[in-house]
Amino acid sequence: MTIRHLPERLINQIAAGEVIERPFAAVKELVENSIDAGASDIEVFIRDGGKSLIQISDDGIGMTADELEIAIERHATSKLPSDDLVHISSLGFRGEALPSMGAVSRMSIISKKNDEAHSITVEGGKKQKTAPAARNKGTKVEIRDLFYATPARLKFLKSDRAETSAIRDVIERLAMAYPDIKFKFTANDKDIINLPATTSLPRLQKIMGKDFADNALEINAERDGVTLKGFASLPTLNRGTNKHQYFFVNGRPVKDKLVIGAIRGAYKDFLENNRHPMLCLFINIDPKNVDMNVHPAKAEVRFQDPSSIRGLIVGGLKHAITEAGHRASTTVANQALGSFTAPNNLWDNDYSQPKNPYRNVKGIEASQYTGSFYSAHKDISNTMLPDIDIEPSTRSYLKPEEEYIEFPLGAACAQLHKNYIISQTTDGLIVVDQHAAHERLVYEEMKKALKAGNIISQPLLLPDVVEMDEKSVERLLSRKHELEELGLYIDQFGKEAVIVQETPALLGQVDIQKLVKNLADDILNFGKTVTLKEKLEDVCGTMACHGSVRSGRHLKIEEMNHLLREMERTPHSGQCNHGRPTYIELKLKDIEKLFGRR
Ligand code: ADP
Ligand code: MG
Repeated sequence: MTIRHLPERLINQIAAGEVIERPFAAVKELVENSIDAGASDIEVFIRDGGKSLIQISDDGIGMTADELEIAIERHATSKLPSDDLVHISSLGFRGEALPSMGAVSRMSIISKKNDEAHSITVEGGKKQKTAPAARNKGTKVEIRDLFYATPARLKFLKSDRAETSAIRDVIERLAMAYPDIKFKFTANDKDIINLPATTSLPRLQKIMGKDFADNALEINAERDGVTLKGFASLPTLNRGTNKHQYFFVNGRPVKDKLVIGAIRGAYKDFLENNRHPMLCLFINIDPKNVDMNVHPAKAEVRFQDPSSIRGLIVGGLKHAITEAGHRASTTVANQALGSFTAPNNLWDNDYSQPKNPYRNVKGIEASQYTGSFYSAHKDISNTMLPDIDIEPSTRSYLKPEEEYIEFPLGAACAQLHKNYIISQTTDGLIVVDQHAAHERLVYEEMKKALKAGNIISQPLLLPDVVEMDEKSVERLLSRKHELEELGLYIDQFGKEAVIVQETPALLGQVDIQKLVKNLADDILNFGKTVTLKEKLEDVCGTMACHGSVRSGRHLKIEEMNHLLREMERTPHSGQCNHGRPTYIELKLKDIEKLFGRR
Protein backbone atom coordinates (compact mmCIF):
# COMPACT_ATOMS: atom_id res chain seq x y z
CA MET A 1 0.00 0.00 0.00
CA THR A 2 1.37 3.40 -0.91
CA ILE A 3 0.14 6.73 0.34
CA ARG A 4 -0.22 9.22 -2.46
CA HIS A 5 -1.78 12.57 -3.26
CA LEU A 6 -5.11 12.16 -5.01
CA PRO A 7 -5.48 13.56 -8.50
CA GLU A 8 -7.33 16.89 -8.58
CA ARG A 9 -10.23 15.39 -10.47
CA LEU A 10 -10.90 12.91 -7.67
CA ILE A 11 -10.48 15.59 -5.00
CA ASN A 12 -13.12 17.66 -6.76
CA GLN A 13 -15.45 14.70 -7.00
CA ILE A 14 -15.07 14.12 -3.29
CA ALA A 15 -15.79 17.80 -2.58
CA ALA A 16 -18.78 17.63 -4.91
CA GLY A 17 -20.20 14.91 -2.71
CA GLU A 18 -20.55 17.47 0.06
CA VAL A 19 -21.14 20.73 -1.73
CA ILE A 20 -23.40 19.50 -4.50
CA GLU A 21 -25.44 16.95 -2.69
CA ARG A 22 -28.39 17.12 -5.04
CA PRO A 23 -29.48 19.29 -7.99
CA PHE A 24 -30.96 21.91 -5.68
CA ALA A 25 -27.54 22.38 -4.10
CA ALA A 26 -26.05 23.14 -7.51
CA VAL A 27 -28.80 25.69 -8.13
CA LYS A 28 -28.18 27.22 -4.73
CA GLU A 29 -24.46 27.65 -5.38
CA LEU A 30 -25.05 29.12 -8.83
CA VAL A 31 -27.77 31.54 -7.74
CA GLU A 32 -25.56 32.62 -4.85
CA ASN A 33 -22.76 33.28 -7.32
CA SER A 34 -25.11 35.46 -9.38
CA ILE A 35 -26.19 37.38 -6.30
CA ASP A 36 -22.55 37.85 -5.29
CA ALA A 37 -21.89 39.12 -8.82
CA GLY A 38 -24.36 41.95 -8.21
CA ALA A 39 -27.04 40.66 -10.58
CA SER A 40 -30.46 42.35 -10.65
CA ASP A 41 -32.11 39.73 -12.84
CA ILE A 42 -31.58 35.99 -12.37
CA GLU A 43 -33.17 33.30 -14.48
CA VAL A 44 -33.06 29.59 -13.68
CA PHE A 45 -34.06 26.98 -16.20
CA ILE A 46 -34.03 23.22 -15.55
CA ARG A 47 -35.01 20.00 -17.21
CA ASP A 48 -35.94 16.73 -15.51
CA GLY A 49 -35.59 17.99 -11.96
CA GLY A 50 -32.18 19.44 -12.83
CA LYS A 51 -30.74 16.04 -13.61
CA SER A 52 -30.30 16.61 -17.33
CA LEU A 53 -30.01 20.40 -17.35
CA ILE A 54 -29.55 23.33 -15.01
CA GLN A 55 -29.04 26.70 -16.62
CA ILE A 56 -28.59 29.98 -14.81
CA SER A 57 -28.30 33.40 -16.44
CA ASP A 58 -27.56 36.65 -14.69
CA ASP A 59 -26.77 40.25 -15.53
CA GLY A 60 -23.98 40.57 -12.98
CA ILE A 61 -20.41 41.80 -13.35
CA GLY A 62 -19.26 38.81 -15.39
CA MET A 63 -15.76 37.34 -15.80
CA THR A 64 -12.89 37.90 -18.21
CA ALA A 65 -11.27 34.97 -20.03
CA ASP A 66 -8.54 34.82 -17.38
CA GLU A 67 -11.04 34.92 -14.57
CA LEU A 68 -13.03 32.13 -16.19
CA GLU A 69 -9.96 29.92 -16.22
CA ILE A 70 -9.28 30.52 -12.56
CA ALA A 71 -12.91 30.38 -11.43
CA ILE A 72 -13.12 26.68 -12.26
CA GLU A 73 -9.94 25.86 -10.38
CA ARG A 74 -10.26 24.43 -6.91
CA HIS A 75 -10.13 26.93 -4.05
CA ALA A 76 -10.21 29.85 -6.43
CA THR A 77 -12.39 32.70 -5.28
CA SER A 78 -12.58 36.45 -5.68
CA LYS A 79 -14.40 36.75 -2.37
CA LEU A 80 -11.74 36.67 0.30
CA PRO A 81 -9.71 39.74 -0.68
CA SER A 82 -8.10 40.07 2.75
CA ASP A 83 -7.14 36.41 2.97
CA ASP A 84 -9.06 35.66 6.14
CA LEU A 85 -12.32 34.00 7.11
CA VAL A 86 -13.19 36.86 9.42
CA HIS A 87 -14.61 39.32 6.94
CA ILE A 88 -16.97 37.24 4.83
CA SER A 89 -19.55 39.55 3.31
CA SER A 90 -20.51 37.44 0.28
CA LEU A 91 -22.57 34.29 0.01
CA GLY A 92 -19.68 32.29 -1.47
CA PHE A 93 -16.14 32.12 -0.14
CA ARG A 94 -15.03 28.51 -0.35
CA GLY A 95 -14.16 28.53 -4.05
CA GLU A 96 -15.47 25.00 -4.37
CA ALA A 97 -18.74 25.18 -6.23
CA LEU A 98 -17.64 25.59 -9.84
CA PRO A 99 -14.79 23.03 -9.75
CA SER A 100 -17.03 20.55 -7.91
CA MET A 101 -19.78 20.86 -10.47
CA GLY A 102 -17.23 20.66 -13.28
CA ALA A 103 -15.96 17.42 -11.83
CA VAL A 104 -19.30 15.62 -11.83
CA SER A 105 -21.10 17.05 -14.88
CA ARG A 106 -20.68 18.68 -18.28
CA MET A 107 -20.41 22.35 -17.42
CA SER A 108 -20.10 25.33 -19.68
CA ILE A 109 -19.89 28.99 -18.73
CA ILE A 110 -20.29 32.01 -20.96
CA SER A 111 -19.50 35.35 -19.43
CA LYS A 112 -19.05 38.92 -20.55
CA LYS A 113 -16.80 41.51 -18.97
CA ASN A 114 -15.04 44.56 -20.47
CA ASP A 115 -17.08 44.27 -23.66
CA GLU A 116 -15.77 40.81 -24.46
CA ALA A 117 -17.55 37.50 -23.95
CA HIS A 118 -15.84 34.15 -23.52
CA SER A 119 -16.83 30.60 -22.86
CA ILE A 120 -15.18 27.71 -21.09
CA THR A 121 -16.22 24.08 -20.66
CA VAL A 122 -15.34 21.36 -18.19
CA GLU A 123 -16.48 17.76 -18.61
CA GLY A 124 -16.03 15.29 -15.81
CA GLY A 125 -13.18 17.47 -14.55
CA LYS A 126 -11.45 17.87 -17.94
CA LYS A 127 -11.03 21.52 -18.86
CA GLN A 128 -11.08 23.08 -22.32
CA LYS A 129 -9.37 26.37 -23.16
CA THR A 130 -11.52 29.51 -23.18
CA ALA A 131 -12.90 30.64 -26.51
CA PRO A 132 -14.59 33.84 -27.70
CA ALA A 133 -18.38 33.66 -27.45
CA ALA A 134 -21.47 35.83 -27.76
CA ARG A 135 -23.33 37.24 -24.75
CA ASN A 136 -24.99 40.55 -23.99
CA LYS A 137 -24.38 40.90 -20.30
CA GLY A 138 -23.40 38.91 -17.24
CA THR A 139 -22.88 35.19 -16.96
CA LYS A 140 -24.67 32.05 -18.06
CA VAL A 141 -23.74 28.73 -16.46
CA GLU A 142 -25.01 25.48 -17.91
CA ILE A 143 -24.75 22.16 -16.10
CA ARG A 144 -25.69 19.11 -18.15
CA ASP A 145 -25.94 15.54 -16.91
CA LEU A 146 -25.19 16.28 -13.29
CA PHE A 147 -23.47 13.33 -11.57
CA TYR A 148 -22.93 11.44 -14.84
CA ALA A 149 -19.31 11.11 -13.70
CA THR A 150 -20.33 9.72 -10.29
CA PRO A 151 -23.03 7.13 -11.03
CA ALA A 152 -23.28 6.11 -7.39
CA ARG A 153 -24.74 9.52 -6.58
CA LEU A 154 -27.14 9.42 -9.50
CA LYS A 155 -28.92 6.49 -7.91
CA PHE A 156 -29.79 8.47 -4.81
CA LEU A 157 -31.61 11.29 -6.53
CA LYS A 158 -35.31 11.63 -5.88
CA SER A 159 -38.08 11.95 -8.44
CA ASP A 160 -37.96 14.87 -10.88
CA ARG A 161 -40.88 16.31 -9.07
CA ALA A 162 -39.19 16.20 -5.66
CA GLU A 163 -35.99 17.70 -7.05
CA THR A 164 -37.95 20.47 -8.81
CA SER A 165 -39.73 21.36 -5.62
CA ALA A 166 -36.46 21.40 -3.66
CA ILE A 167 -35.04 23.77 -6.29
CA ARG A 168 -38.08 25.98 -6.02
CA ASP A 169 -37.61 26.14 -2.24
CA VAL A 170 -33.98 27.10 -2.51
CA ILE A 171 -34.67 29.86 -5.02
CA GLU A 172 -37.58 31.19 -2.98
CA ARG A 173 -35.48 31.26 0.13
CA LEU A 174 -32.81 33.36 -1.54
CA ALA A 175 -35.48 35.52 -3.18
CA MET A 176 -36.88 36.41 0.25
CA ALA A 177 -33.60 37.96 1.25
CA TYR A 178 -33.11 39.81 -2.05
CA PRO A 179 -36.45 41.40 -2.95
CA ASP A 180 -34.77 43.92 -5.24
CA ILE A 181 -33.54 41.14 -7.53
CA LYS A 182 -35.90 39.76 -10.17
CA PHE A 183 -36.14 35.95 -10.12
CA LYS A 184 -37.56 33.63 -12.71
CA PHE A 185 -37.63 29.85 -12.53
CA THR A 186 -38.77 27.58 -15.33
CA ALA A 187 -38.90 23.78 -15.19
CA ASN A 188 -39.42 21.83 -18.42
CA ASP A 189 -40.77 25.00 -20.05
CA LYS A 190 -43.27 25.53 -17.26
CA ASP A 191 -43.13 28.83 -15.33
CA ILE A 192 -42.73 28.02 -11.65
CA ILE A 193 -41.58 31.30 -10.14
CA ASN A 194 -41.83 34.77 -11.56
CA LEU A 195 -40.92 37.44 -9.06
CA PRO A 196 -40.54 41.05 -10.14
CA ALA A 197 -38.14 43.28 -8.23
CA THR A 198 -39.90 44.83 -5.23
CA THR A 199 -39.52 45.49 -1.50
CA SER A 200 -39.51 43.11 1.43
CA LEU A 201 -43.15 42.58 2.47
CA PRO A 202 -44.59 42.31 -1.07
CA ARG A 203 -41.89 39.76 -1.87
CA LEU A 204 -42.73 37.77 1.26
CA GLN A 205 -46.41 37.96 0.38
CA LYS A 206 -45.69 36.32 -2.99
CA ILE A 207 -43.84 33.49 -1.30
CA MET A 208 -45.53 33.07 2.08
CA GLY A 209 -49.03 34.08 1.04
CA LYS A 210 -51.49 36.90 1.59
CA ASP A 211 -52.60 35.64 5.00
CA PHE A 212 -49.08 36.12 6.21
CA ALA A 213 -48.69 39.58 4.73
CA ASP A 214 -52.04 40.69 6.18
CA ASN A 215 -51.25 39.37 9.64
CA ALA A 216 -47.55 39.99 9.95
CA LEU A 217 -46.01 42.19 12.59
CA GLU A 218 -42.99 44.16 11.52
CA ILE A 219 -39.92 43.27 13.53
CA ASN A 220 -37.26 45.86 14.07
CA ALA A 221 -34.81 45.43 16.90
CA GLU A 222 -31.18 46.11 17.67
CA ARG A 223 -28.77 44.98 20.33
CA ASP A 224 -25.00 45.45 20.60
CA GLY A 225 -24.76 46.52 16.95
CA VAL A 226 -26.67 43.46 15.71
CA THR A 227 -29.94 44.20 13.94
CA LEU A 228 -33.02 42.03 13.62
CA LYS A 229 -35.57 42.89 10.95
CA GLY A 230 -38.37 41.05 9.23
CA PHE A 231 -41.95 40.01 9.75
CA ALA A 232 -43.63 37.58 12.13
CA SER A 233 -47.23 36.43 12.25
CA LEU A 234 -49.65 37.36 14.97
CA PRO A 235 -49.96 34.36 17.31
CA THR A 236 -53.45 33.68 16.01
CA LEU A 237 -51.97 32.94 12.58
CA ASN A 238 -50.10 29.73 13.29
CA ARG A 239 -49.26 26.44 11.66
CA GLY A 240 -48.74 22.83 12.69
CA THR A 241 -45.11 22.87 11.53
CA ASN A 242 -42.18 25.24 11.78
CA LYS A 243 -41.50 24.94 8.06
CA HIS A 244 -42.92 28.41 7.52
CA GLN A 245 -40.14 29.98 9.52
CA TYR A 246 -37.31 31.50 7.56
CA PHE A 247 -34.15 32.87 8.98
CA PHE A 248 -31.26 34.72 7.39
CA VAL A 249 -27.89 35.86 8.65
CA ASN A 250 -26.30 38.57 6.55
CA GLY A 251 -28.53 37.61 3.63
CA ARG A 252 -27.71 33.92 3.90
CA PRO A 253 -30.51 31.42 4.57
CA VAL A 254 -29.55 29.37 7.61
CA LYS A 255 -31.06 26.75 9.85
CA ASP A 256 -30.24 27.13 13.45
CA LYS A 257 -31.40 25.42 16.64
CA LEU A 258 -30.71 28.52 18.68
CA VAL A 259 -33.05 30.54 16.53
CA ILE A 260 -35.81 27.94 16.58
CA GLY A 261 -35.54 27.84 20.37
CA ALA A 262 -35.67 31.62 20.61
CA ILE A 263 -38.80 31.78 18.45
CA ARG A 264 -40.43 29.18 20.66
CA GLY A 265 -39.48 31.18 23.72
CA ALA A 266 -40.97 34.37 22.33
CA TYR A 267 -44.30 32.76 21.40
CA LYS A 268 -44.64 30.23 24.20
CA ASP A 269 -47.02 32.49 26.07
CA PHE A 270 -49.33 32.59 23.13
CA LEU A 271 -49.14 29.24 21.42
CA GLU A 272 -49.46 25.60 22.29
CA ASN A 273 -46.32 23.55 21.87
CA ASN A 274 -47.40 21.98 18.61
CA ARG A 275 -48.34 25.26 16.93
CA HIS A 276 -45.81 27.52 15.22
CA PRO A 277 -45.87 31.10 14.03
CA MET A 278 -44.98 31.96 10.44
CA LEU A 279 -42.07 34.32 10.16
CA CYS A 280 -39.15 35.59 8.19
CA LEU A 281 -36.29 37.16 10.11
CA PHE A 282 -33.12 38.83 8.93
CA ILE A 283 -30.16 39.24 11.22
CA ASN A 284 -27.37 41.56 10.27
CA ILE A 285 -24.21 41.14 12.23
CA ASP A 286 -20.58 42.11 11.83
CA PRO A 287 -19.12 39.09 10.00
CA LYS A 288 -16.36 38.87 12.56
CA ASN A 289 -18.88 37.94 15.24
CA VAL A 290 -20.24 34.93 13.44
CA ASP A 291 -18.60 31.86 11.95
CA MET A 292 -20.12 31.05 8.56
CA ASN A 293 -17.65 28.30 7.87
CA VAL A 294 -19.28 25.52 9.87
CA HIS A 295 -20.77 23.51 7.07
CA PRO A 296 -19.73 22.87 3.44
CA ALA A 297 -23.13 23.90 2.22
CA LYS A 298 -22.90 26.98 4.46
CA ALA A 299 -26.33 26.24 5.93
CA GLU A 300 -25.26 26.61 9.53
CA VAL A 301 -23.62 29.40 11.44
CA ARG A 302 -22.08 29.79 14.83
CA PHE A 303 -22.60 33.00 16.76
CA GLN A 304 -19.85 34.25 19.00
CA ASP A 305 -22.39 35.43 21.57
CA PRO A 306 -25.38 33.10 21.25
CA SER A 307 -27.17 34.35 24.36
CA SER A 308 -27.17 37.92 23.11
CA ILE A 309 -28.61 36.76 19.77
CA ARG A 310 -31.26 34.77 21.59
CA GLY A 311 -32.11 37.80 23.69
CA LEU A 312 -32.36 39.94 20.57
CA ILE A 313 -34.77 37.53 18.90
CA VAL A 314 -36.95 36.86 21.94
CA GLY A 315 -37.02 40.55 22.83
CA GLY A 316 -37.73 41.72 19.28
CA LEU A 317 -40.57 39.27 18.75
CA LYS A 318 -42.14 39.79 22.16
CA HIS A 319 -42.03 43.53 21.74
CA ALA A 320 -43.85 43.29 18.42
CA ILE A 321 -46.47 40.92 19.82
CA THR A 322 -47.05 43.20 22.79
CA GLU A 323 -47.38 46.21 20.51
CA ALA A 324 -50.10 44.41 18.68
CA GLY A 325 -52.13 44.47 21.89
CA HIS A 326 -55.16 42.31 21.65
CA ARG A 327 -55.36 42.38 17.87
CA ALA A 328 -56.02 38.87 16.60
CA SER A 329 -55.36 37.83 13.05
CA THR A 330 -57.94 38.61 10.41
CA THR A 331 -57.70 35.09 9.11
CA VAL A 332 -59.64 33.76 12.05
CA ALA A 333 -62.57 35.95 11.30
CA ASN A 334 -62.17 35.79 7.54
CA GLN A 335 -61.97 32.07 7.26
CA ALA A 336 -64.63 31.16 9.71
CA LEU A 337 -67.11 33.93 9.53
CA GLY A 338 -66.77 35.76 6.28
CA SER A 339 -67.45 39.27 7.37
CA PHE A 340 -66.61 39.10 11.05
CA THR A 341 -63.73 41.46 11.67
CA ALA A 342 -60.72 41.10 13.88
CA PRO A 343 -60.44 43.13 17.04
CA ASN A 344 -58.70 46.47 16.82
CA ASN A 345 -55.71 47.48 18.78
CA LEU A 346 -56.69 48.89 22.14
CA TRP A 347 -53.21 49.17 23.47
CA ASP A 348 -50.40 51.65 23.17
CA ASN A 349 -46.94 50.48 22.32
CA ASP A 350 -45.69 50.18 25.85
CA TYR A 351 -46.91 47.03 27.58
CA SER A 352 -46.87 48.66 30.96
CA GLN A 353 -48.92 51.65 29.83
CA PRO A 354 -52.26 50.55 28.49
CA LYS A 355 -53.94 53.45 26.80
CA ASN A 356 -57.21 54.38 28.35
CA PRO A 357 -59.77 52.32 26.48
CA TYR A 358 -62.44 54.49 27.99
CA ARG A 359 -61.16 57.82 26.76
CA ASN A 360 -63.96 58.20 24.26
CA VAL A 361 -66.60 57.34 26.79
CA LYS A 362 -68.19 60.41 28.27
CA GLY A 363 -68.13 60.76 32.02
CA ILE A 364 -66.32 57.52 32.73
CA GLU A 365 -62.91 57.38 34.29
CA ALA A 366 -60.70 54.43 33.62
CA SER A 367 -59.84 54.37 37.30
CA GLN A 368 -63.41 53.42 38.07
CA TYR A 369 -62.68 50.07 36.56
CA THR A 370 -59.31 49.24 37.94
CA GLY A 371 -60.65 46.74 40.42
CA SER A 372 -59.87 43.23 39.35
CA PHE A 373 -62.59 40.91 38.24
CA TYR A 374 -61.08 38.43 40.61
CA SER A 375 -60.74 40.59 43.66
CA ALA A 376 -64.21 42.04 43.17
CA HIS A 377 -65.67 38.64 42.55
CA LYS A 378 -63.54 36.31 44.57
CA ASP A 379 -66.70 34.58 45.56
CA ILE A 380 -67.53 33.94 41.97
CA SER A 381 -64.20 32.63 40.88
CA ASN A 382 -63.53 30.69 44.02
CA THR A 383 -66.69 29.16 45.20
CA MET A 384 -69.35 29.33 42.59
CA LEU A 385 -67.48 27.17 40.13
CA PRO A 386 -67.99 25.53 37.88
CA ASP A 387 -71.64 24.71 37.64
CA ILE A 388 -73.65 26.77 40.03
CA ASP A 389 -77.08 27.46 38.61
CA ILE A 390 -78.34 30.97 38.50
CA GLU A 391 -82.06 31.63 38.34
CA PRO A 392 -83.31 31.11 34.83
CA SER A 393 -84.63 34.66 34.59
CA THR A 394 -81.16 36.21 34.72
CA ARG A 395 -79.74 33.82 32.21
CA SER A 396 -81.56 34.74 29.06
CA TYR A 397 -81.75 37.91 27.03
CA LEU A 398 -81.23 41.17 28.84
CA LYS A 399 -81.37 44.74 27.66
CA PRO A 400 -77.81 46.06 27.30
CA GLU A 401 -76.74 48.54 29.93
CA GLU A 402 -76.56 51.88 28.11
CA GLU A 403 -73.45 53.03 29.93
CA TYR A 404 -71.35 50.19 28.60
CA ILE A 405 -72.29 50.36 24.94
CA GLU A 406 -69.56 52.85 24.07
CA PHE A 407 -66.87 50.67 25.60
CA PRO A 408 -64.57 48.83 23.20
CA LEU A 409 -66.06 45.46 24.03
CA GLY A 410 -69.52 46.87 24.56
CA ALA A 411 -72.37 45.96 26.87
CA ALA A 412 -73.14 42.32 27.55
CA CYS A 413 -76.60 41.24 26.40
CA ALA A 414 -76.71 37.49 26.70
CA GLN A 415 -74.84 34.27 27.11
CA LEU A 416 -75.40 31.53 24.56
CA HIS A 417 -74.60 27.83 24.76
CA LYS A 418 -73.30 28.46 28.28
CA ASN A 419 -70.03 29.82 26.85
CA TYR A 420 -70.53 32.65 24.37
CA ILE A 421 -71.13 36.15 25.62
CA ILE A 422 -72.86 38.42 23.14
CA SER A 423 -72.33 42.11 23.65
CA GLN A 424 -73.44 45.21 21.81
CA THR A 425 -71.08 48.01 20.80
CA THR A 426 -71.89 51.36 19.17
CA ASP A 427 -71.25 49.99 15.70
CA GLY A 428 -71.54 46.24 15.94
CA LEU A 429 -71.62 43.21 18.15
CA ILE A 430 -69.03 41.07 19.85
CA VAL A 431 -68.92 37.38 20.61
CA VAL A 432 -66.61 36.38 23.47
CA ASP A 433 -65.41 32.86 24.12
CA GLN A 434 -65.83 32.93 27.87
CA HIS A 435 -63.58 29.99 28.58
CA ALA A 436 -60.71 31.25 26.44
CA ALA A 437 -61.02 34.78 27.83
CA HIS A 438 -61.07 33.57 31.41
CA GLU A 439 -58.06 31.43 30.88
CA ARG A 440 -56.08 34.35 29.52
CA LEU A 441 -57.14 36.72 32.29
CA VAL A 442 -56.25 34.24 35.02
CA TYR A 443 -52.90 33.73 33.40
CA GLU A 444 -52.05 37.42 33.14
CA GLU A 445 -53.28 37.97 36.69
CA MET A 446 -51.12 35.13 37.98
CA LYS A 447 -48.07 36.50 36.27
CA LYS A 448 -48.68 39.86 37.89
CA ALA A 449 -49.17 38.36 41.35
CA LEU A 450 -46.05 36.25 41.03
CA LYS A 451 -44.04 39.25 39.99
CA ALA A 452 -45.31 41.22 42.98
CA GLY A 453 -44.67 38.20 45.21
CA ASN A 454 -48.18 38.09 46.60
CA ILE A 455 -49.53 34.76 45.55
CA ILE A 456 -52.24 33.70 47.96
CA SER A 457 -53.00 30.06 48.50
CA GLN A 458 -56.29 28.60 49.54
CA PRO A 459 -56.59 25.50 51.75
CA LEU A 460 -58.76 22.72 50.41
CA LEU A 461 -61.63 21.63 52.61
CA LEU A 462 -60.86 18.08 51.66
CA PRO A 463 -57.23 17.51 50.68
CA ASP A 464 -57.06 15.72 47.37
CA VAL A 465 -54.93 12.63 46.71
CA VAL A 466 -53.38 12.31 43.27
CA GLU A 467 -52.04 8.92 42.30
CA MET A 468 -49.08 8.82 39.98
CA ASP A 469 -46.05 6.70 39.21
CA GLU A 470 -43.20 6.79 41.70
CA LYS A 471 -40.91 8.83 39.46
CA SER A 472 -43.48 11.57 38.98
CA VAL A 473 -44.03 11.72 42.73
CA GLU A 474 -40.30 12.11 43.30
CA ARG A 475 -40.05 14.72 40.64
CA LEU A 476 -42.86 16.79 42.12
CA LEU A 477 -41.55 16.50 45.67
CA SER A 478 -38.11 17.63 44.55
CA ARG A 479 -39.84 20.88 43.60
CA LYS A 480 -42.01 21.06 46.72
CA HIS A 481 -40.64 24.40 47.93
CA GLU A 482 -40.73 25.97 44.54
CA LEU A 483 -44.35 24.90 44.12
CA GLU A 484 -45.20 26.37 47.51
CA GLU A 485 -43.88 29.72 46.36
CA LEU A 486 -46.44 29.50 43.60
CA GLY A 487 -49.22 28.72 46.05
CA LEU A 488 -49.44 24.96 45.58
CA TYR A 489 -48.86 22.84 48.70
CA ILE A 490 -48.25 19.13 48.24
CA ASP A 491 -46.94 16.30 50.44
CA GLN A 492 -45.94 12.73 49.89
CA PHE A 493 -48.77 10.24 50.29
CA GLY A 494 -47.31 6.77 50.12
CA LYS A 495 -44.93 5.87 47.34
CA GLU A 496 -47.22 6.45 44.46
CA ALA A 497 -49.32 9.43 45.37
CA VAL A 498 -49.18 13.00 46.58
CA ILE A 499 -51.72 14.79 48.70
CA VAL A 500 -52.65 18.33 47.77
CA GLN A 501 -53.41 20.64 50.70
CA GLU A 502 -53.63 24.12 49.21
CA THR A 503 -53.95 25.58 45.74
CA PRO A 504 -53.30 29.10 44.39
CA ALA A 505 -56.38 31.14 45.29
CA LEU A 506 -56.25 32.94 41.97
CA LEU A 507 -57.14 29.77 40.15
CA GLY A 508 -60.49 29.37 41.78
CA GLN A 509 -61.72 25.84 41.58
CA VAL A 510 -59.03 23.67 40.09
CA ASP A 511 -59.04 20.32 38.38
CA ILE A 512 -56.41 19.15 40.86
CA GLN A 513 -55.80 15.73 39.33
CA LYS A 514 -55.04 17.11 35.91
CA LEU A 515 -53.10 20.08 37.21
CA VAL A 516 -50.73 18.03 39.34
CA LYS A 517 -50.14 15.42 36.66
CA ASN A 518 -49.43 18.05 34.03
CA LEU A 519 -47.06 19.86 36.36
CA ALA A 520 -45.16 16.60 36.85
CA ASP A 521 -44.85 16.33 33.07
CA ASP A 522 -43.77 19.95 32.79
CA ILE A 523 -41.03 19.40 35.36
CA LEU A 524 -39.83 16.39 33.42
CA ASN A 525 -39.69 18.47 30.26
CA PHE A 526 -37.82 21.33 31.90
CA GLY A 527 -35.02 19.07 33.08
CA LYS A 528 -33.24 19.10 36.41
CA THR A 529 -31.25 22.30 36.20
CA VAL A 530 -34.06 24.68 35.38
CA THR A 531 -35.93 26.33 38.23
CA LEU A 532 -39.67 26.76 38.10
CA LYS A 533 -39.10 30.50 38.38
CA GLU A 534 -37.24 30.41 35.09
CA LYS A 535 -40.17 28.53 33.61
CA LEU A 536 -42.71 30.60 35.42
CA GLU A 537 -44.64 31.40 32.31
CA ASP A 538 -44.97 27.73 31.39
CA VAL A 539 -46.02 26.80 34.89
CA CYS A 540 -48.51 29.65 34.96
CA GLY A 541 -49.86 28.50 31.65
CA THR A 542 -50.41 24.98 32.92
CA MET A 543 -52.08 26.27 36.06
CA ALA A 544 -54.28 28.78 34.25
CA CYS A 545 -55.40 26.08 31.90
CA HIS A 546 -56.68 23.86 34.68
CA GLY A 547 -57.87 26.59 36.95
CA SER A 548 -59.89 28.64 34.54
CA VAL A 549 -63.58 28.66 34.52
CA ARG A 550 -64.53 26.12 31.93
CA SER A 551 -67.20 26.76 29.43
CA GLY A 552 -70.57 25.64 30.64
CA ARG A 553 -70.96 28.05 33.52
CA HIS A 554 -73.83 30.50 33.53
CA LEU A 555 -72.82 34.08 34.13
CA LYS A 556 -74.92 36.94 35.38
CA ILE A 557 -75.01 40.07 33.25
CA GLU A 558 -72.83 41.90 35.81
CA GLU A 559 -70.31 39.10 35.68
CA MET A 560 -70.23 39.28 31.91
CA ASN A 561 -69.72 43.02 31.94
CA HIS A 562 -66.94 42.65 34.48
CA LEU A 563 -65.27 40.11 32.27
CA LEU A 564 -65.47 42.46 29.27
CA ARG A 565 -64.02 45.38 31.24
CA GLU A 566 -61.26 43.16 32.56
CA MET A 567 -60.40 42.09 29.03
CA GLU A 568 -60.18 45.71 27.94
CA ARG A 569 -57.66 46.40 30.67
CA THR A 570 -55.51 43.35 30.09
CA PRO A 571 -52.80 43.29 27.44
CA HIS A 572 -52.75 40.17 25.25
CA SER A 573 -56.35 39.42 26.12
CA GLY A 574 -57.32 39.12 22.45
CA GLN A 575 -56.01 35.60 22.37
CA CYS A 576 -55.92 32.66 24.72
CA ASN A 577 -52.74 30.90 25.82
CA HIS A 578 -52.98 28.65 22.79
CA GLY A 579 -53.11 31.44 20.24
CA ARG A 580 -56.82 31.24 19.60
CA PRO A 581 -58.80 34.48 19.65
CA THR A 582 -60.84 35.18 22.74
CA TYR A 583 -63.42 37.25 20.94
CA ILE A 584 -64.56 38.30 17.50
CA GLU A 585 -66.31 41.40 16.36
CA LEU A 586 -68.99 41.83 13.74
CA LYS A 587 -69.54 45.36 12.52
CA LEU A 588 -73.01 46.66 11.90
CA LYS A 589 -72.09 47.50 8.32
CA ASP A 590 -71.11 43.87 7.76
CA ILE A 591 -74.35 42.67 9.28
CA GLU A 592 -76.14 45.02 6.92
CA LYS A 593 -74.13 43.55 4.05
CA LEU A 594 -75.18 40.07 5.08
CA PHE A 595 -78.77 41.15 4.78
CA GLY A 596 -78.19 42.88 1.46
CA ARG A 597 -78.83 46.31 2.96
CA ARG A 598 -75.53 47.67 1.61
P1 ADP B 1 -17.02 31.02 -4.42
O1 ADP B 1 -18.39 31.48 -4.77
O2 ADP B 1 -16.96 30.36 -3.10
O3 ADP B 1 -15.99 32.10 -4.57
P2 ADP B 1 -17.25 29.42 -6.77
O4 ADP B 1 -16.57 28.19 -7.20
O5 ADP B 1 -18.73 29.37 -6.62
O6 ADP B 1 -16.60 29.87 -5.43
O7 ADP B 1 -16.91 30.57 -7.78
C1 ADP B 1 -15.53 30.89 -8.03
C2 ADP B 1 -15.40 32.32 -8.51
O8 ADP B 1 -15.96 32.46 -9.80
C3 ADP B 1 -16.12 33.33 -7.67
O9 ADP B 1 -15.33 33.75 -6.57
C4 ADP B 1 -16.37 34.48 -8.66
O10 ADP B 1 -15.25 35.32 -8.74
C5 ADP B 1 -16.50 33.76 -9.96
N1 ADP B 1 -17.92 33.61 -10.35
C6 ADP B 1 -18.68 32.49 -10.19
N2 ADP B 1 -19.95 32.69 -10.68
C7 ADP B 1 -19.97 33.96 -11.15
C8 ADP B 1 -21.00 34.76 -11.77
N3 ADP B 1 -22.24 34.29 -11.99
N4 ADP B 1 -20.68 36.03 -12.13
C9 ADP B 1 -19.43 36.51 -11.92
N5 ADP B 1 -18.44 35.80 -11.34
C10 ADP B 1 -18.68 34.55 -10.95
MG1 MG C 1 -19.97 30.27 -5.11
